[in-house]
Parts: sequence; C-alpha cells; structure tokens
Amino acid sequence: MLFECDPPPPLVGIAKLVASSDLLEAKRTVEYFELETRRFIGRGSGRMRSIWTVNPYRGCEFGCKYCYARYAHEFMELRDPELFERKIYAKRFEKPAFRAELRRLKPGETIWIGTATDPYQPAERRFRITRGMLEVFSGERGFDLGITTKSDLAGRDAELLAEIGRKNRVGVHLTITTLNEALARLLEPRAPRPALRLGAVKKLSEAGVRVSVLAHPVMPLINDSEQSLDEVCAAAARNGASGFSAGPLFLKSCARQVFFPFLEQRFPHLVRRYRERFEKHPYLKGAYPEMIQERLEKIRARHRLKTWEAPEWPVSDQMEMFGEPEHQLGRDFTLQRKVDSV
Ligand code: SF4
Repeated sequence: MLFECDPPPPLVGIAKLVASSDLLEAKRTVEYFELETRRFIGRGSGRMRSIWTVNPYRGCEFGCKYCYARYAHEFMELRDPELFERKIYAKRFEKPAFRAELRRLKPGETIWIGTATDPYQPAERRFRITRGMLEVFSGERGFDLGITTKSDLAGRDAELLAEIGRKNRVGVHLTITTLNEALARLLEPRAPRPALRLGAVKKLSEAGVRVSVLAHPVMPLINDSEQSLDEVCAAAARNGASGFSAGPLFLKSCARQVFFPFLEQRFPHLVRRYRERFEKHPYLKGAYPEMIQERLEKIRARHRLKTWEAPEWPVSDQMEMFGEPEHQLGRDFTLQRKVDSV
C-alpha cells in the first residue's frame, strides 16, 4: 500500500507518451491531441484474427452512455471514464505510410474502420484522417472494407466510397439505436440526431454504397420493444439500407461506471434489474439474447432487409475488435511535436 507521501509510480509506454502529448486545440470541454503512430492497421485477435482494424482516433466525443470503448483510455492512464470523451487523440496521418501498410496486406482481406471509436466523430471535421485513408483506398483494389459510425458526416464521403466500391467491396454501417430524439439525446449526448443519421443512410445508398443500420446496443426496457426496433428498421429500409442488425447491451466495468449513474438519474426504476443482471457479467445470458434475435428476424422479414453482410461479431468477441492490441501501444506510438494550440 502506498503512503500519502510516496511518489506516484512512473508512467510507462503509451501512458507516458500521452501524458506528454501536446495540446492541439481546446474547446469548452474537449481537448484534441495528436499522437504519432507507427502503425495504423491492427490485427483483430482471437476469432477475429482474420480481420484488420483501423481507428483514426482514440477517445470519442459522442459520449454514449453505454460505450465500452472507454477502457482504451485506461491503457493511457486516463482512468476517469469521462476523459474518453474529453481528451481526443488524433493519430498523425501520412498517406504514403498508410498506403505502404495497406499494400502489405493480401488482396481480399477485410479491413474495418471504426471498431473502437467513431471515425466520423467531430475531430474528423478538422483532422480528416478518415477521409485521407479513404483517398488511399480509392487507389487500391480487391479489399473488403467496412466502416461503422454514428455520424451523418459519413455522407460527406458518399461519392468517394462509391468510387472505392467499384474496385473493392465496401459496406457502411450506421448505428441508430432509436428514432426517439429525446431518448437518443440522453443515450448518445453528442452524436448526431437519428434523423441526420438516416439522411446519411439515404445519401450513401443513393450514391450506390451498401449501407446497413445497426440498432445496437439493445437495452432492456429502454429501446428493446418490438415497436422501437421496428421503427428503426422501417426507417432504414425507407432510406435505402440493405441490412439491419442489433445485439444486446454489453457493459464492461468501465462502461458501468458511466451507465449506472446515468440509469440512476434517468431511469431509476430500472437500476435494480440492471444491477442484478450486469454486476457479475458484462453481457446478458439466457433467454433474452435469443428473444431479441427472434424479434429482429421477424422485423427484418417484415421489411425485407438482410442481416448485415459483415462477419458476425458475437458479443463475447467485441473486446477483440479493438484491433490495436493495447499491449502493443507502447511501441506503436511515439510522441508528436507540438503543431498548434488554441
Ligand atoms: S460513438 Fe461509439 S466510440 Fe463513440 S462514444 Fe459512442 S459507442 Fe463509444
């Protein structure tokens, strides 16, 4: 046990680099930093080893109450889960380096952008890293590229994605958990409104890009009713999506630290039941996941949508999707010189 006068343990690896990264821009509550990375493309692990993952940003400003990616900031010794949405790290991007990495992959391999954090979060408007990566993809052929996002900013790249799709297989997956704007604002405070996300579905599908909608995560007694899921699926179909999927809520401990206080404040009547179900396991077991999958199948059939065409990611594998094995972060990042500050 440490006494009060003991010095804190020295920071190592990525935590040390992050602690000394330079501030690029500070808004009211969000700070942007830049990290140099030696590697943009990471290998999935476990059953996801066949997939390559890319995450242009660390941290995510959208601040979803159920977000389980918050744990990634813990590896940088940023242990307050709220820092995940207030300290955003943009990876310093250079097209030639990314192209060289891409060309080391075999043709036909699957690459997924946005497995840990949203590649179209607000930082993308400034840093345009996702855009830069897609521009590189537009010169390549034969890849299977997937993107997951909760942002209508994906619509900005509709034409570019369509162009990539002429020589590669491309799919964009927009997450829409509910059409209820007030509920969405509570659950995903800084993510674009569901109507804006549907606008991106339309824009992308009209450009010829394959789009699916994910109503993920399905939260018991919050957005899991047949009516709520059906509304999202119907809107997805109306706006040109070809797929619709969802999976039950996954609450890792870092997510529980944010989600339970949120429940206490907004859904106090649900706190006891959620605690009973999630305190021992991060994901729901038993009849509930099966019941949700049956409900989804019925809904998909009603609106003639398919399940998403990407590889299935079982809930238990979600933690394997971060793609940049966190134990390797220390050697993947080096300190970036100061570029700008506001
Ligand atoms: S958009 Fe995704 S990564 Fe960002 S806060 Fe929400 S769940 Fe987390």
